[in-house]
Amino acid sequence: TALIEARDLKLAFGETPALRGASLSAGAGEVLAITGPSGSGKSTLLHCLAGILTPDSGEVRFDGRRVDLLNEERRSVLRRDTFGFVFQFGQLVPELTAEENVALPLLLGGTRRTAALAEARPWFARLGLDGLERRRSGELSGGQAQRVALARGLVTRPRVLFADEPTGALDSLAGEQVMELMVDAAREQGTTVILVTHEPRVAAYADGQTIVRDGRTSTLVPAR
Ligand code: ADP
Ligand code: ADP
Repeated sequence: TALIEARDLKLAFGETPALRGASLSAGAGEVLAITGPSGSGKSTLLHCLAGILTPDSGEVRFDGRRVDLLNEERRSVLRRDTFGFVFQFGQLVPELTAEENVALPLLLGGTRRTAALAEARPWFARLGLDGLERRRSGELSGGQAQRVALARGLVTRPRVLFADEPTGALDSLAGEQVMELMVDAAREQGTTVILVTHEPRVAAYADGQTIVRDGRTSTLVPAR
């Protein structure tokens, strides 16, 4: 059964149709890649699934509940408490240390600083970042910064991790490292991953692949 699914989503930005009938589903613990050419609607589909955008029509369900019908306040709680995010350029806060960046989602959820930092720290050994805890994130290499962003996305133990071109800014070695760490960490804690990528080598790490062309989806590789 699906943990998260989209059914026949349609969404236009003004006169520009971005989604014209997009559907997908992923089960608990599955890694699903959304692939397709630039401008095909991948990010828009991801944003609808994550409750960042509301489709004009169609349905988004998480754990049986209609995400697209929730009000903005309930959607922001869902994003904060239940979902995790990793973006293309990490989007770390450069003035904060690496461990403060990882702790940030916990702090925003009301966890005290000491407890949040204690939960953040084990991620450094786990992701090969030992010794970088106190480094300002503006001083990290691209691959290090993206692993910190990955830790930040997973530190709340989200049910679903949304990753939009998580390796897009990295060379292929650093990109493969991030993909391996992301897939392993997600499997270990049963987190479903919805990954947007235009790179076939990155998509190959996923259990299943959905391709988007001109706002319409088709299944390339079923997840099960
Ligand atoms: P992809 O992620 O596959 O590159 P996007 O989902 O970003 O594609 O974009 C799909 C289409 O919607 C493109 O034509 C893009 O220019 C347009 N689009 C995306 N976001 C916006 C926006 N906020 N305002 C207007 N047009 C947008
Ligand atoms: P990505 O494909 O990684 O999302 P983009 O450059 O397509 O990167 O989009 C970055 C941001 O700009 C997104 O928030 C998207 O919604 C917005 N965007 C994309 N295309 C347009 C557009 N034509 N007009 C306005 N905003 C857009």
